[in-house]
Order: sequence, then C-alpha cells, then structure tokens
Amino acid sequence: MSHDLVCRGVNVRFGQFHALRDINVSFQPNRVTALIGPNGAGKTTLMNVLSGLQKHSGQVLLGDQDISGLRPDRRAGLGISRSFQIVAVFPDMTVFENMRLALQPNALAWSMPWRSIHGYRDLAADAAARLETFGLHDVADRPAAELSHGQQKLLELALSLASDPKVLLLDEPLAGVGHGDAKTFVQTLGRISEGRTTVLVEHNMDVVLNVADHIIVLADGSLFAQGTPAEIRADRKVRDVFLGQSA
Ligand code: ADP
Ligand code: MG
Repeated sequence: MSHDLVCRGVNVRFGQFHALRDINVSFQPNRVTALIGPNGAGKTTLMNVLSGLQKHSGQVLLGDQDISGLRPDRRAGLGISRSFQIVAVFPDMTVFENMRLALQPNALAWSMPWRSIHGYRDLAADAAARLETFGLHDVADRPAAELSHGQQKLLELALSLASDPKVLLLDEPLAGVGHGDAKTFVQTLGRISEGRTTVLVEHNMDVVLNVADHIIVLADGSLFAQGTPAEIRADRKVRDVFLGQSA
C-alpha cells in the first residue's frame, strides 16, 4: 500500500494574506523530506494542512484517499502522527513508564487489572528496546521532567513512534536541542524513516543535508525549489534566499 502524501493545488489565506499559494508537492514513503525556507515561508502552515489543523482549498491525498476534509483525530487514525502535538509526555512518570504507556494499544487498558502478565512483560521489553534505540536507556528510571531538553525531544520522538505511524510530521524538533542530542536525533531519524513517510521542518542546514532524502523549499508561501540535497546545495537561487535571511 502506498503512503504517498500529496498536496494538489493547496491554498491557504488568512484574511487578505495569502499564506500558501497553489502548492503541489508529494511526500514519499521510506524517505525523509525536509521542508525548508525563511521564517514566514509557510512551513508550519503546510504542516498544519497535512495534519488537518489548517483549513485550505485544494486537496490532500494519502495514497488514493482524499483526506482533505478529515479532522486531525481522523487523520491520526489513518496513521498521520504530528509529533509534539498528539504526544503527551507525563513529567512525573519515569521515562520508562512514559514509553510503556505509549505502547499500550489503548490508554484505558492501563487501568485494567485483568490484562495479561505476558502482555505486560512484552510491553516492558519493547519499551526498553525502544529507549535503547533512542539513547535513553541510561535515564529510563528518571522522571521525564528531569531530562535535558534534548533528551525530552528524543523521548517525544520515541513516544510519537509508539503507534508506528505511516506519516511522521516533525516541525522543528531540534529547536533548542544541544549538539550531542541533536546528533543522536539525526542518527535515529535516519533509521526510523524506513516504512514511513517523514516530513521534517528544520532550520539547521547541516542536519537537513545529512538526514533528508528530498528537500522542498518554500518562500513567501510558494514552492521555490525542490530536489536532492546535492541539487539544493548547488542551487544558486536557494542560496540567495537563505543568505538574504541571515544577512
Ligand atoms: P514558517 O513556519 O515557515 O515560519 P508559518 O507557516 O508559521 O511560517 O507562517 C506563514 C505566514 O502566515 C507568516 O507570515 C505568518 O505570520 C502567517 N500566519 C500563520 N498563521 C497565521 C494565522 N493563524 N493568522 C494569520 N496569519 C498567520
Ligand atoms: Mg514554523
């Protein structure tokens, strides 16, 4: 089954302001697609369009299905996970407990005394393995609130992957994250993109060039350029846009 996520003729207006202009793009499975562009380009707005938070004209398709009219909860049901919005980290619970809870197929089951002890053990093993993948095994028994900012971001990513989403939407997941944790995040992201469609909004071009398979550049609400990291890196007009911003 194809999980291509496609925008066809997407427009968003805030009153007179035209925030997204006729966006036609495709996000493909087994790839990390980076969405880049100057502040105010429309990146977050486009992520909101994909997750169902933003009204728009035009279509959003997941595979063959037109999901334009579906609310965020229905889209989540189809496997579209917007990290850091849908995921809740419980600060007083340990990292391990947070992970195990996220792996419960149904949050209600948590309080059901009759759930099987075997299911419980499998869940615990799965939780431990996932924390290892995200470099969080050393802090598994600490309350989530005690983690560094970067570790919390890693935990949020781990939790948002618990439901094994087909589409993972990450809007600046590394904001405020230190170098070491960012490196773990990038390495992990490379590994978890298999079997899903990942969309990443990220300012750090080193991260983008490292982790992205495909790059989409937005500027002033329009599609400005797209291509492989090598193509984007070599694109003179893309460089001008970014230099213009940092000047
Ligand atoms: P980016 O994430 O690329 O920095 P955004 O998608 O957040 O940009 O915003 C794109 C433009 O749309 C900006 O000029 C922003 O001010 C405007 N905008 C975003 N959300 C709203 C809103 N709810 N109402 C009015 N203007 C908005
Ligand atoms: Mg944004």
